Amino acid sequence: MNLTTKVLIGMTLGIIVGLVFNLSGMNADGSFVNHYVVNGFFHVVGSLFVNALKMLVVPLVFFSLICGVCGIGDIRLLGRIGTKSFGLYMLTTAIAIATAIIIAGGIGIGDGVKIPTETNFTGREAPPLSQVFIDIVPTNPISAMAEGNMLAIIFFAILVGVSILLVGKKAKPLVTNVELWNEVMMKMVMLVMSTAPYAVFCLLGKAIANLGLDLLWELAGYVLVLAGILFFHLFVTVQMVLFGFSGLSPFTFLKKMRSNQVFAFSTSSSNATIPVTLRTVTERLGVNNSVASFTVPFGATINMDGTAIMQGVATVFIANIYGVELGLVGYLTVILMSVLASIGTAGVPSVGLLMLSMVFAQVGLPVEGIGLIIGVDRILDMIRTVVNVTGDAAVTTIVAKSEGKLSVEEFNNPDAGVVEP
Ligand code: ASP
Repeated sequence: MNLTTKVLIGMTLGIIVGLVFNLSGMNADGSFVNHYVVNGFFHVVGSLFVNALKMLVVPLVFFSLICGVCGIGDIRLLGRIGTKSFGLYMLTTAIAIATAIIIAGGIGIGDGVKIPTETNFTGREAPPLSQVFIDIVPTNPISAMAEGNMLAIIFFAILVGVSILLVGKKAKPLVTNVELWNEVMMKMVMLVMSTAPYAVFCLLGKAIANLGLDLLWELAGYVLVLAGILFFHLFVTVQMVLFGFSGLSPFTFLKKMRSNQVFAFSTSSSNATIPVTLRTVTERLGVNNSVASFTVPFGATINMDGTAIMQGVATVFIANIYGVELGLVGYLTVILMSVLASIGTAGVPSVGLLMLSMVFAQVGLPVEGIGLIIGVDRILDMIRTVVNVTGDAAVTTIVAKSEGKLSVEEFNNPDAGVVEP
């Protein structure tokens, strides 16, 4: 049995056990199951795994990006990869949120829903865009790494790579050294991934056991419309973009992305999934590390199609509930704001809600309205993280193909990179 199959089994069993705990009431507050199993054992095992993934992110991105830049060897090519991936990331995010607003608006989601008396949610102010740009250059690379500030780490690693290239032949031993480090980190990814079936079981068991299913039912309209648009984007829009720009088969792509998507789903974090995404695109999809090492962490930070869709639907939903007429300019502002907000925020669990509060503050919607949807956000966060991560991999594949940095043979080979633990 290969790892993907095992992970899928872990996921299915986790969902089943979670549902049993949830529906049977065994997970009631203070019960044995709640205390020792769900918030005890499941919580500990799941958190250990997510921590282990996060532990890999910074060193892996750092080493693989230096290798990537040294592998490209041409600074102009680096510029082209940057421009293309940035353009595609922004384009797909804008399409995502526009689709969301049009569909949710057309359906009139939230119309007629009464304003509940109490909600509590305090938002966050948007950092000025200028600050987001200023922070790309770290004053202290070590503290950028300590804080996991991805754009700053990317910037510093690229600069190290470029400087190594400029030093030339003399730096060859250093390149060999970094390549070895990269290999060591990739091995570590494999080690952590081999525990995934059990960890995914625990993560999902906990998430589903703790889901407020009655809330899900109450907000069924919002949840169904949002999930529907997320799936549409995942299976139709992203695949059309992939096929349109690269001519590669969306079916092969989706099949090879499956276990990667389970990681995204169970961790709810594009950032924590970076090590797995890097492995998937380089070893399963045939993308050269010189492209992937840049576009994957870059995408995990700036590309959030699923989050943008949530923001579009939530905006329409809450505007309708509070009877606020946003108008065309209001909605265009929402689109612009969510695209911009996605640049400055990292892909971690629930960050979408904070981004939403920035958007609301901008267009004058009541920020406390977000309290209405917070209860059902956990499961939606899981789904939109899958969409986010799949978008990163699709753009990576497109950019690599357009630069001749993708092995079509490997992409089409069903056995490429399959892990038999
Ligand atoms: N959890 C999402 C991610 O990491 C971000 C969000 O929508 O909250 O991609």
